Amino acid sequence: MGSPINVLIWNEYRQEREEERIAKVYPNGIHAQLANLLGEDGDVTVRTATLDEPEHGLTDDALAATDVLVWWGHMHHDEVADEVVERVRRRVLDGMGLIVLHSAHFSKLFKALMGTTCNLKWRADGEKERLWVVDPTHPIVEGIGEYIELPEEEMYGEHFDVPAPEALVFVSWFAGGEVFRSGACYSRGAGKIFYFRPGHERHPTYYDPAIGRVIRNAVRWAAPVARPQRTFDLVPALEPIEAR
Ligand code: ZN
Repeated sequence: MGSPINVLIWNEYRQEREEERIAKVYPNGIHAQLANLLGEDGDVTVRTATLDEPEHGLTDDALAATDVLVWWGHMHHDEVADEVVERVRRRVLDGMGLIVLHSAHFSKLFKALMGTTCNLKWRADGEKERLWVVDPTHPIVEGIGEYIELPEEEMYGEHFDVPAPEALVFVSWFAGGEVFRSGACYSRGAGKIFYFRPGHERHPTYYDPAIGRVIRNAVRWAAPVARPQRTFDLVPALEPIEAR
């Protein structure tokens, strides 16, 4: 194996501290449970950062030491400073992987990278979700069966206002009748982005082993390819250009 994949898990971490029903599901925060999941892999190092830390824990140094950033946010997207969003966006363009979870579809960061509203239909009634694997060749579904079933989740429904994914890995069906593109891959610059839908804070979704496996696979898929930074600008010819 090569060098470890350095993962930074970012979480808003407000609702788990302020709402008892959510603290019951994630007593140490959603980021702590995601860290547990990723910590199962010996070749992954995991750090966490949260909204209320200085610069939201997303300093230049923290980002420089990150191969893949995992992002969960919900109620306080607007409190993420624009300059921090821009810093993270540039890191993605330079090759840092990004896993965008659930309600982070509305984060400033994801919207900036997609260039669309990222809006969708929703309903928080705790209904059954079945995530169908629609790309069995994709490394993100390694070890996953035909589908993943979650007994209770929030519904997200089409239309999901995002660009057409470069690879669509999961489509969700919900008991209420809607469908949703729930696992979608993008590239932006040198960076890879995976949007993964499940993870409403009231449900124990991030304790589900199959969901954990998808996130672990996604981190591996999104890790930067080992190659020099891209160079741009006016450049000299690589070899003499013959006059014609
Ligand atoms: Zn939600």
